[in-house]
Amino acid sequence: MTSSPPSAHWSLIIIGTGFAGLSLALQRMNGRQEDFIVLEQAQSPGGTWRDNRYPGCACDVPSHLYSLSGAPPWDWQRKYAEAPDIEAYLAHLAHSLGSRIRYRAQVTSASWQAHKQLWQVELNDGSCLTCRFLVAGVGPLSEPAWPDFPGVENFTGPLLHTARWSKNQDLKGQRVGLIGTGASAIQVGPALAPEVAQLIIFQRTAPWVVDRKDHPYTPGIRRLLRTSPFLRRAYRTWLYFTRELKGLAFLRPNLMRKIEAYVRRDLTHKVVNPRLRQKIMPKTPMGCKRILLSDTWWSTLEFPHVTLETDPIHHIEATHLVTETGTRYALDALVLATGFRYQDNPMARLFKGEEGITLEEFWKEQRSAYLGMMMPSFPNFFLLTGPFSGLGHNSIVFMIECQTRWIQSALAHVAALGKSEFKVRAQAYAAFTNEMNRRSKNSLWMQGCQSWYLDPEGRNTALWPGLSLSYWWRTRRFNAQDFEYA
Ligand code: NAP
Repeated sequence: MTSSPPSAHWSLIIIGTGFAGLSLALQRMNGRQEDFIVLEQAQSPGGTWRDNRYPGCACDVPSHLYSLSGAPPWDWQRKYAEAPDIEAYLAHLAHSLGSRIRYRAQVTSASWQAHKQLWQVELNDGSCLTCRFLVAGVGPLSEPAWPDFPGVENFTGPLLHTARWSKNQDLKGQRVGLIGTGASAIQVGPALAPEVAQLIIFQRTAPWVVDRKDHPYTPGIRRLLRTSPFLRRAYRTWLYFTRELKGLAFLRPNLMRKIEAYVRRDLTHKVVNPRLRQKIMPKTPMGCKRILLSDTWWSTLEFPHVTLETDPIHHIEATHLVTETGTRYALDALVLATGFRYQDNPMARLFKGEEGITLEEFWKEQRSAYLGMMMPSFPNFFLLTGPFSGLGHNSIVFMIECQTRWIQSALAHVAALGKSEFKVRAQAYAAFTNEMNRRSKNSLWMQGCQSWYLDPEGRNTALWPGLSLSYWWRTRRFNAQDFEYA
């Protein structure tokens, strides 16, 4: 990779080379607005698709939808791409940005300099950059959650987190414990099962899992999708609206209950072992956590060398995991599929707005961001995929593209005014937060599940409480009156 020119001041700095950072950088590049740089802490691009290397890692949104709308076509080989293919796609996009990306550039702090109307960005190599506008595309699900089980430090075998998998990890023929039954677990479990001697899965909450119906595309379909922009667009639109229609169930609990009854019946037919069926039948309302997609999860649980343990974990010893009722499992390796620190993501300590206040301090009462992007004490600063802009039912790349287009219009508006600084008005921020709280109140996510969507007060602060189409509507133009300028 080439290194960027040694300039210290930029009009815009973008942090991160996942979908979010690359989407904005490519829009600017294509618009010949080239006074920007992208900082990436790793030595290659890809964000979450670079970091999540566990076996079986794939996307549960079809790739023709989970890709940038304006980017050149990519020859997706199957409906749901595997992580290495998505990483290769992102690397290909990043390549076109050339020296605009500076790798191994980890941001250690970014602070607003009010007197200069600039952001000062410090890097791990001691260098310091400044910029007028700062965009954080650092990913809300980037920091793994390592649960603090008593005695875990004494475990002598490999302790692997799905989000920090080392490339050459070989678990063949071993006795493996897998903690968690979320989106990562239902992918890594079926991928590990055929090669390990024993797989003990520790389930705290039974998830809702429905068929993914994954399949490879035939060479003919691939060729058509590669060569015909019309078919590509039509397929993407169809994928988008079918997901959007399913999203209606999140707004209509009666509809979700009908789907729930259907999935229960389906599960009763599919899983013949009554003891296993009882363990996996979800006790929580469908949709209150992410609905998981898998073609292999239920069948994996029926393998003779796979055990689903629902007794809570009590403690961990050098070579054993012990449950609350005293069952002892001898294990050679432990896999933690225990998710991410969303509500207490340490990245919130990096950014310091007016009067040195950190995002973490600013969010003490509640995590929020106007349209999922801006906070009042943080002028000229945008978060991508911030609070209230996650999605459970459709492609997050759609939300990202709404955001990057909105940021482009915001920057154009500020430039047209001849101003150097702008920030969201406190009233507009408060009104948005109140609206999000009100709309989330009766949502399925707040019906008794524990999940990363909810803050310690049990409020949704992660997901957009509506269809993604309504987010597009809200971000289609920049509401100039919601901002102060200087
Ligand atoms: P997650 O959904 O937060 O699931 C974590 C799992 O670990 C849950 O089953 C949880 O149990 C369990 N767990 C956590 N702490 C535990 C403890 N102390 N003791 C026992 N069990 C514990 O994490 P994830 O599966 O990594 O997924 C996180 C998010 O990443 C997803 O919601 C999704 O947005 C994204 N993701 C997407 C894909 C994709 O295909 N697009 C794939 C993977 C991940 P409880 O359920 O009881 O809390």
